[in-house]
Amino acid sequence: MPKVYFVIPCYNEEEVLPETIKRLNTKLLSLIECGKANEESRMIFVDDGSKDKTWNIISAYSEENKFVGGVKLAHNRGHQNALLSGLMTAKEENCDCVISLDADLQDDIDVIDQFIDKYRQGCEVVYGVRNSRKKDTFFKRTTAQGYYKFMKMLGVDIVYNHADYRLMGSKALDALSEYKEVNLFLRGIVPLIGYRTDYVYYERHERFAGESKYPLKKMIKFAVDGITSFSVKPLKIISNIGIFICGLSVIGFIYALVSLITGSSVAGWASTICSIWFLGGLQMMCIGIVGTYVGKIYNEVKQRPRFRIEKKIIRNNDENNDDFFDNHDIE
Ligand code: UDP
Ligand code: MG
Repeated sequence: MPKVYFVIPCYNEEEVLPETIKRLNTKLLSLIECGKANEESRMIFVDDGSKDKTWNIISAYSEENKFVGGVKLAHNRGHQNALLSGLMTAKEENCDCVISLDADLQDDIDVIDQFIDKYRQGCEVVYGVRNSRKKDTFFKRTTAQGYYKFMKMLGVDIVYNHADYRLMGSKALDALSEYKEVNLFLRGIVPLIGYRTDYVYYERHERFAGESKYPLKKMIKFAVDGITSFSVKPLKIISNIGIFICGLSVIGFIYALVSLITGSSVAGWASTICSIWFLGGLQMMCIGIVGTYVGKIYNEVKQRPRFRIEKKIIRNNDENNDDFFDNHDIE
């Protein structure tokens, strides 16, 4: 029987957390009961520097229930880093496999059984893939689909409609720990690991409570990170545009020369100004893109730690586990 860990990053999730813990606890107990997970399995809630009572809730539940573990990060480091810290904690605890999921119960926890079945059939990575995006807003749906297509065009191998709901076996976790990059985009890294993989399809629900912790600004940053961390094609596109414009300017030069020879007056102020503006803008854009990469190199060479764990709670099996959920309320 595998030792299964759940890893759940949480940022200001006080509204939804008690329900999440309750439901995941029920799930874990049922997995243990039907022999899909062993008694040493745990849920690890990573508090990503929340400003609300998230950590209080995690530590209070963990006192009463040995299956609830917690990791408290010293800062808000973002979803990807929080997730990584949880995955690395699970790895240190020598779990057999780990399932990562969001705190807001958007991922359908009933497919966890299928994740584990596939793991037991020999898969090291199992991706949770959404059946449809019907429940998303029009904006999120179209931008997400456009993004996947764009990534594909750039030659980045990511799984369509898969967020971070996935199972990873211990071998895959070991491999992941060897990727030292600071600009984390796990969806791009995991497919690079290899091993046998499979997919599980599920329906994504609405957020159970609270608001999205991914406002547009964060989402754009995430999307840009995904592209610039995995593809240098934008740099190539710049050089191609440059070559194209050089070609155009040769034609312009020939035209000017011909007009000079035939004696007709050459174009005036407007065209000169237009080209100055156009080229100026283009150059700035190109420098900007190059700068993005340089900035990334700068961040990578610093090799700063990607997260810092302030506290950790993981309880042993010999401690008792009372019927906590029947008779306890967290303030
Ligand atoms: N999250 C996090 N740190 C952050 C932002 C989000 O750990 O800085 C967690 C959040 O608590 C949730 C998951 O990442 O468990 C996904 O966030 P959310 O559900 O808000 O994103 P959405 O589903 O709206 O894209
Ligand atoms: Mg969500």
